[in-house]
Parts: sequence; C-alpha cells; structure tokens
Amino acid sequence: MSKIDLYDINLKNISLEHQSFEYTLDKHYFQLLENPEIEDGQINVKLKVKKQSELYHFVFHLNGYAQVLCNRCLDVMKQPIEYVETLKLKIGNQYNDEEEIVIVSDNNPIFNIAWFLYESIMLSIPLSHTHEKGKCNSKIIEKLNNHITGVKLEKNRENNEIDPRWEKLKEIIKND
Ligand SMILES: [Zn+2]
Repeated sequence: MSKIDLYDINLKNISLEHQSFEYTLDKHYFQLLENPEIEDGQINVKLKVKKQSELYHFVFHLNGYAQVLCNRCLDVMKQPIEYVETLKLKIGNQYNDEEEIVIVSDNNPIFNIAWFLYESIMLSIPLSHTHEKGKCNSKIIEKLNNHITGVKLEKNRENNEIDPRWEKLKEIIKND
C-alpha cells in the first residue's frame, strides 16, 4: 500500500449516514504529488461524508497554511488557508452527463482525494499573495544596505515572530 492510498475513500465502506475523516497535509503529503507547485505547509482537513440515497456528499474544511512564494519579494511565506469545498459522488458504471457529480466505478468504488485536496488548496490561494505589510524580505536588503553604509541596524520592535533565516542573515552580516 503506497502512502497516497491513505487518501483513498472507499465508498462501499461508507455505511453510516454521516462519516468523518481527518487529515493533516504537510511536507509528506506534498511529496506524494508529482511536481506540485506547493511543496510544504500545514493544513488540517476535516472531511464529512454524508450518504443520501445514491449520492455521497463530501464536505471538506481546510484550515492552516501553505508555503508559497511572496509576489512582492519572492521569498517563501505562509499563506493562510481557510476553505470549504464540496463534492458529489455516485457509484455507477456508465458515464453520467449530470454536472458536478463524480462517477466512481462499481468495480473499484474508491475515490482518492489527494489531488482534489491539492486543487482545493490552489483554488483557495489568492492570485496576489504577499507577506504582511513590512514583513517582506526587502527589509533584509535594506538592513544589508544599512550595514554597508555603516548605519546602525534598527531594532525591530513590532516583530514578535522572526524568521530563523533572518537571524542567519544577521549572523552573516555580523561576521562579515
Ligand atoms: Zn514578501
């Protein structure tokens, strides 16, 4: 059983009217996908499956963050993810032209949600995503420039969470 199978949902196993599943999407999850644009993050997924006659209603709640590149400074950033997505599935053996219903084969009534989750994450990320105001990497550039011109580094008072890489860069500046 490969790890991607962890995201398999066997519709035939859903006997109760409501069933819940939980997943944590992190680096290991993104590594299972082929060449994903997003490679890291921490996203909790709560999936509720409800069976109504022949239809399976999937409701996904995604909550956490995905690591993406900032549009402004191109450094990595944590994009908050808060997203709800739904999906309807049906077991059947013939193609159905009903829209928005995924037909799952009766012979193999398994739906793997790994890529669906990934697409949901991608959809939830706004086209323009940047660090919060003042948290862009340009600050480092600024600090480096300040160092070069001999201006004393100003202490960052507003910041409570410092990216460890910033600390490393400061070390580089100090040891320069
Ligand atoms: Zn930025």
